[in-house]
Amino acid sequence: MDVTVALGHFCDKHGPCVLLCTEKSKDIPKEQILSQSLVCSACESLPPDTVFTCQDEHYCYITSRASLNTNVAHTLKDVVLRSLSIEVVEEKGKKSGTIYFGDDTRGHIISHVFNIRDSLARGFRRKFCIVVLGNHQIPLLNHYNFIEDNLRHISEELQQKADNSTSAKETTAYRRDFEQFQNASKVQLRPLPQLVNEHNVFAHLHMWFVFLLRAKIYRNVPHSVPQCPVECSSVNMLRELGKEMPENVFQTILYCTLTGITVTECNTDILKHFRQLLPKKFALPASGKSCEVFKKDNVWSCKFDATFPINIPRLISSIEVAVKNPDISDTTLSYHLMDLIMHWFSNACVLSWATNSCDELMRLLEIRKCDLPLLAYWIPQSGGCIEMCTTDWFKKFADGKSSESN
Ligand SMILES: [Zn+2]
Repeated sequence: MDVTVALGHFCDKHGPCVLLCTEKSKDIPKEQILSQSLVCSACESLPPDTVFTCQDEHYCYITSRASLNTNVAHTLKDVVLRSLSIEVVEEKGKKSGTIYFGDDTRGHIISHVFNIRDSLARGFRRKFCIVVLGNHQIPLLNHYNFIEDNLRHISEELQQKADNSTSAKETTAYRRDFEQFQNASKVQLRPLPQLVNEHNVFAHLHMWFVFLLRAKIYRNVPHSVPQCPVECSSVNMLRELGKEMPENVFQTILYCTLTGITVTECNTDILKHFRQLLPKKFALPASGKSCEVFKKDNVWSCKFDATFPINIPRLISSIEVAVKNPDISDTTLSYHLMDLIMHWFSNACVLSWATNSCDELMRLLEIRKCDLPLLAYWIPQSGGCIEMCTTDWFKKFADGKSSESN
């Protein structure tokens, strides 16, 4: 992510202005774009032909009065204007604090607004902001606390220096200064180095801003999401089969696959699309009733001798409805199926953990008689979700149980 850090202030003469901007670049610029805007003493920062640079193995970090990139320079002007004149930043009654605003077109901004004491300014305070501008929202907001902490730290340091540099004598001179300010129209407002009594304050800010840019926090770091026990990757094939097969054939294969009845196929290779509807670690039945699927003269049929129930498990009917819904995309269907399957996998897990009061629990889980053929197959296999538990509840449970039986 491209990130730029900038300092802005509100000038009594010129309104909101950018004072300093730090950005990273592959190379040190050969020539500096000279800022044409008029600068008063309050708006003074680096001379237009001066930049601070430092470098690491990957990038150069350049601090200048305005961004070297014209688009970024315009955006920053807008961001400082918005931070100091439009957005309301108030924390616990103080007129300072941190805000986020922005969009994908203009960029995403975390802006920290604060005041610095100035005996010559209106209200004896000058308004400043430090903004962090990035082109991606999530990585920026993921590190909101880190950025806010640092911006607050920088601003507090500046405020402290300004307070320290204001001697007791100067405090008593406030009123006189203010009267002078009121009487003389051409009062020279002091630049930041004088306000904080630190000649090198811009070099100091350059180092802070480079630290923020080098923090390596703005990368998209892959985080470890636990593997989902269900993966529906070929829903498009399932959809095609739903259209091609007679309804009773499609429903029978679904029913047999999901309730642990052996399904075999003759000269076809379609069962894998049905088996993706089972949680990954489920074992296929080795014996018992069976169902045979075949395609003859382009017509799908199946041979299933056992009695087919009148009411099928609700997961099966939900899957059928979802697969035959033409209004949802394949991607959405895939996640929707995962959601439906995970719901029943979760029910099976909970029932496999329960030691007694199963009737009551089943009522609470809203399990009906028609769902039992499915659960009878799923409950014994639901140990797969043990891996998903962070606590060793199972071990504790097993230990407790064995000590009880001893
Ligand atoms: Zn100015």
